[in-house]
Amino acid sequence: MDNSPENQGLEFRAVAKAFDGNRVLDNLNLTIGKGEFFVILGPSGCGKTTLLRLIAGLEAVDGGEIFLNGRPIHAMEAGDRGVAMVFQDYALYPHMTVAENLAFGLRNMGVPPVEIAVRIQETARSLAIDSFLDKKPGKLSGGQQQRVALGRALVKKPDILLMDEPLSSLDPALRLKTRRELATLGRSLLATVVMVTHDQVEAMTLASRIMVMHDHRIQQIGTPLELFSRPANLFVAQFVGATPMNVLMGDVVAGEGGRAIFRLPEGDIHTVIRTDTLPQSTDWRLGLRAEHVELTTPKTPHIPATVDFVERLGEQSWVHVRLADGSELVATEAGVSLHQPGDRVGVKLDGGRAHLFDADGRAWHPEPA
Ligand code: ATP
Repeated sequence: MDNSPENQGLEFRAVAKAFDGNRVLDNLNLTIGKGEFFVILGPSGCGKTTLLRLIAGLEAVDGGEIFLNGRPIHAMEAGDRGVAMVFQDYALYPHMTVAENLAFGLRNMGVPPVEIAVRIQETARSLAIDSFLDKKPGKLSGGQQQRVALGRALVKKPDILLMDEPLSSLDPALRLKTRRELATLGRSLLATVVMVTHDQVEAMTLASRIMVMHDHRIQQIGTPLELFSRPANLFVAQFVGATPMNVLMGDVVAGEGGRAIFRLPEGDIHTVIRTDTLPQSTDWRLGLRAEHVELTTPKTPHIPATVDFVERLGEQSWVHVRLADGSELVATEAGVSLHQPGDRVGVKLDGGRAHLFDADGRAWHPEPA
């Protein structure tokens, strides 16, 4: 076995998977470092769960190889891989106590009873489930059951922990609490974690790196901040973030100092992106996060717009506006917005923060300050 540092972690080499002739994953190449908290994001049906199931050995690869800590695992029995998986619905055994649920997998692995007892105590303490080891899952709250499911995975001391939307069945308060616990746990775990989620906040707050998947392909892999501030393409820009990035269509012309000007019928947006870095493209889009769109009064020289609707979240509001040509934009306002549907406003776009996307959706970004 090759245990050199570069072989620690998880590696996919040209992995392919299809169901009934429909390809789900195609030539997937991916390296996840040991100890990473790796989050997979993507629209429904893009193959996130399939990817976890291939690692766990619950599905077989059609082509390619998977290595864990230098060992080829794609042809191994699920139980021999050093992988543990936490499912969305916990899948605890209802007729067993919490302690028996934790012990079950260890007995199957042939762990001696004395060590099983020690591991259960250690795991139960670290997840604060030690006070209900004798209870059956049906007597526990959703959050407690979720922690037991996590415990049942961790007690096996897996090389890799796979989690498929582990928090999605919890109510919002419990979700927040458990998310914080997972963040702490993630840092203290030696295992590599791969988690699938639909929740942007979970992805942004827990991940060391996020992978965005779409159309059978990896769209981008990066830290949460990289994906948010330098999305590789239009899909990532509109998929990552609490609201999709605003996108406007227009023309690009060269401005002073070789900086691109984005031309709209209502006026020019001066970006700080160099035109000599841009390809020839006839079809340009400007992308701007909601926090870089400012609402002013209609008398200002800014783009005129009408408020469509307002989402007030308490600490901030999202104000949805419509331009004369029908384009829609979202602006963030601190606190509770006083705007009402139908209000006439001016829209000031911060060109210094604007991104450009060509006809293929590829992105160009302002240089970091
Ligand atoms: P979601 O976010 O909705 O859970 P996902 O990204 O996890 O979606 P997968 O569950 O991996 O997506 O499914 C990917 C595709 O493969 C889907 O089109 C799904 O219908 C199909 N698929 C998954 N498992 C099977 C199976 N056992 N047999 C046939 N098709 C399957």
